[in-house]
Amino acid sequence: MDLGTYIMFWVCVFGLCFGSFYNVVILRSLSGESIVFPPSKCPKCQHKLYPWHNIPVLSYILLRGKCYFCKEKISIQYPIIELLTMVLFGISYWKFGISYTTLFVIFWLSCLLIMTMTDIKEKIVDCNIAIAMAVSGMIYAGLIGGWHGVLHSVLGLLAGAFIMELIARAGFVVAKTRAMGEADTYVAGALGAIFGIFAIVKVLLFSLAASMICVIPVFLYNKYKTDDKPVCIFSVLFITAILVYYKLWQNYWTFSALAVISALLVYFILKGMNKSENRNYLPYVPALAVAAGYCMFFL
Ligand SMILES: [Zn+2]
Repeated sequence: MDLGTYIMFWVCVFGLCFGSFYNVVILRSLSGESIVFPPSKCPKCQHKLYPWHNIPVLSYILLRGKCYFCKEKISIQYPIIELLTMVLFGISYWKFGISYTTLFVIFWLSCLLIMTMTDIKEKIVDCNIAIAMAVSGMIYAGLIGGWHGVLHSVLGLLAGAFIMELIARAGFVVAKTRAMGEADTYVAGALGAIFGIFAIVKVLLFSLAASMICVIPVFLYNKYKTDDKPVCIFSVLFITAILVYYKLWQNYWTFSALAVISALLVYFILKGMNKSENRNYLPYVPALAVAAGYCMFFL
């Protein structure tokens, strides 16, 4: 085994262990418990776990996805986060090698991963994490570009927060409520500090594209969970109908079907708007995170 592969192996092992820790951070930042103090226990039967129950991914496979004591199902979220963290650590090392850039990128991606998960699960985002990202972004900019870099970073922070806040407040015009949560402004500001004044605009544009892929399914999932099933079913039909129309048969029949489905979809959305309180809420942190990750590696 050559040195590069050897280091990559350990980076991935570290990724798995950190992923396991992030699961705890996600769980406890939602329940409000301390991150360090209480030892891990089963959320159902409260039984304290043995050390071998805490091995990333492997424990999940050995326990066949069930609690050792009460046989309650363990969420698939745990091994997924562990594997995802491993992949993010691995790509960061592969792209930036042994450098302090790798450490910063790993830190930022970790923050984004944790905020994404808490946003999806409970619509809660710890803004302190975004502030930590912003500060580290300015430090990094200072290391790379001196005072000039710090200036770019501060301007980026202001631009990111300002643009996102503007979009959020546009909601008042249409629906008399914020279009997005306050956390989105914090995260956009943090990304501005990391990417600087010019690239942040690109990141925000990418986040729009990313929201099409990753926010809308989450939105539909939440709708489904809150018993707004017609909206989900018709949204899926609508997207399928568009694909069918554009890729396969462009004729009057498919066009009529598309029109009927979209009319029904609009009807159910309008009907649902009146009764649900959180009607305009879209978890946007996932889209920002995906866009930021993409821009870190591919731009
Ligand atoms: Zn249990």
